[in-house]
This record gives sequence, C-alpha cells and structure tokens, in this order.
Amino acid sequence: MLRELQDKILKLKKEKNIAILAHSYQSTDILEIADFRGDSYQLSVIAKELDCETVIMCGVKFMAETLKMLSPEKKVILPIAQATCPMAEQISPERVVQFKKENPTFKVVAYINTTAELKAVCDVCVTSSSALKIVSALDTKDILFIPDKNLGAYISSQLPQKNIVLWDGYCPIHDAVTVKDCIEAKQLHPNAKVLMHPELPPEVLAYGDVIGSTTAIINYALDTDDECIIGTEKSIADFLKLQKPDGKFYLLSKKLMCPDMRMTTLSDVYAAMISDSGHEVILSDELLAAARKPIDEMIRLGG
Ligand code: SF4
Repeated sequence: MLRELQDKILKLKKEKNIAILAHSYQSTDILEIADFRGDSYQLSVIAKELDCETVIMCGVKFMAETLKMLSPEKKVILPIAQATCPMAEQISPERVVQFKKENPTFKVVAYINTTAELKAVCDVCVTSSSALKIVSALDTKDILFIPDKNLGAYISSQLPQKNIVLWDGYCPIHDAVTVKDCIEAKQLHPNAKVLMHPELPPEVLAYGDVIGSTTAIINYALDTDDECIIGTEKSIADFLKLQKPDGKFYLLSKKLMCPDMRMTTLSDVYAAMISDSGHEVILSDELLAAARKPIDEMIRLGG
C-alpha cells in the first residue's frame, strides 16, 4: 500500500515536472520519495538550481517561505498549511523594530527558523551550521539573537568577545530535554558518543561529545564506528538506522518528536500533487524583497 502510493508519487513527479524537497526531520516514507533531503537552507539553495516550475516542500511553513524567497519565480507548495514551527513566531516584528530603535548599536541576528515578516526586520539570518561563522564575522559587538535562546547561548559561549543579548524563545521539542535524560541515556549506553543539536539547553549540551547542526550530526554518525546517542529530532535517528543498518543509534529522549514536522503524510504529498491542494506560499513583492535581505547578507558572510 505504502509502496504503491510512493510509486504513484514518483510517476506523477516525472509527468508534472514537480520537485519534492524534504527536511531531514520528515518521515522515512517521505524522505524515500524526495528528490532532495537536508536542512531548510540547503534545500532552498538546491531549489534555486532546479529546472521545474513547482516545488513541494515537505516541512514547516518557514522552510517553504525561505525557499520561495530564494526562488520567487517558482510555485512553492507546503502540503499542510497548519505545519508551522512554534519557535518561528515567538517574537513579533514590532518588538524587533522597537528594540532596534532603543538600541541603535545592535545588529539583529535571526535564526532561519523565523517567519518572513520577522526576517524582513532583521539584519542577517543564520542556520545552526553557519551561526558561529556569521556572528563572528559581523562588524558589531552588540547583537540581539532571536528567537532561540539555546542556540544563542551556545554561540555566545563560543564567542565571548561579542555582547549577545538573547531573546527568550526556544524550540519546545529540544528545550524539553533535561539533564536527567542525559544521565539515563549515558547509563544505558555508556560507550556511546553523544551528538547534540545546539537547540538543546546549555545544561544538556554539557553532556555532548559533539555539538552541531542536523547535517553535522548525520555526517558524524555515518562516519564513525562508535555507537551514537542522537540528541535531536527522532527522525534523524530513524534516518541513520536506514542509511546504516549495522550502526547503533539511540535517541537521547523520547521527547524529541516534533508534531509539526510529523503533520505531513505521504497522502498529503500526493494530494498536493494531484489537486494543487495544500498551501501555496504567496509573499508580496515588498515582503519578499525585505525578507530576502538578511538571507543575502548570510550568503555574503559565507553562510
Ligand atoms: S523541531 Fe523545534 S525548531 Fe524544528 S520545527 Fe519542530 S518546533 Fe520548530
């Protein structure tokens, strides 16, 4: 049944010249039929080069928006309109504008997990893999980092020369992991390396052997012969097991499951292909131009 649906999607994809992009946190059955898999920024860059009119982005809303910003001429569809990242809206654009007025020496750095409206009022975007490089390259000491206080705190710990003010936002999935979870996982798997995403709280990151983006975690886990405890969304552990069946991968905590990332099913992808259902990302020219600026700045600074 599942295989049948996957075959239908693969056939339709060719007939209609549609590209399917899937964030690494998507379910395995979607990852299997996607043309490309990766993090939100990697996928946006890939989409730019694709020779197709329509792209289906399996992930959450800010990812589809970022893709649209880099490929405004393409039709970008998010199969499920309700799939959003709660962290992306934890600060309003008005608050950022107000902060900038009150603190003119500051530059505002936005994690890519933000809405288009938020990006439009920020100075530069970062991904979890580029944040250190970009923040370090900024020509100002004073920085407001939004919205993820955990990623911001990690960057701040690595760049003590910068004055980084953190917003009180967080990923509710990663932020829920505790020190107790780390101790239990280490007791169960004492020889395993602990690979952690910097969206985890600082006291949890203290237990990490490797701290890095989703891509860095995947690359490390695929390369090593060690057992690995995976400290990010469960789908990464599932993906690793699929890629390396003889590898030993354990999830750091059962809490690491994002309901928004799991909202899109294979049937939703199929429905979006046959009936143009789903949510087409429409951004006004003005918003598109303003939101694109911090992305371009990220690219200029080597992100
Ligand atoms: S895992 Fe966290 S950051 Fe990623 S989409 Fe879910 S809520 Fe947002």
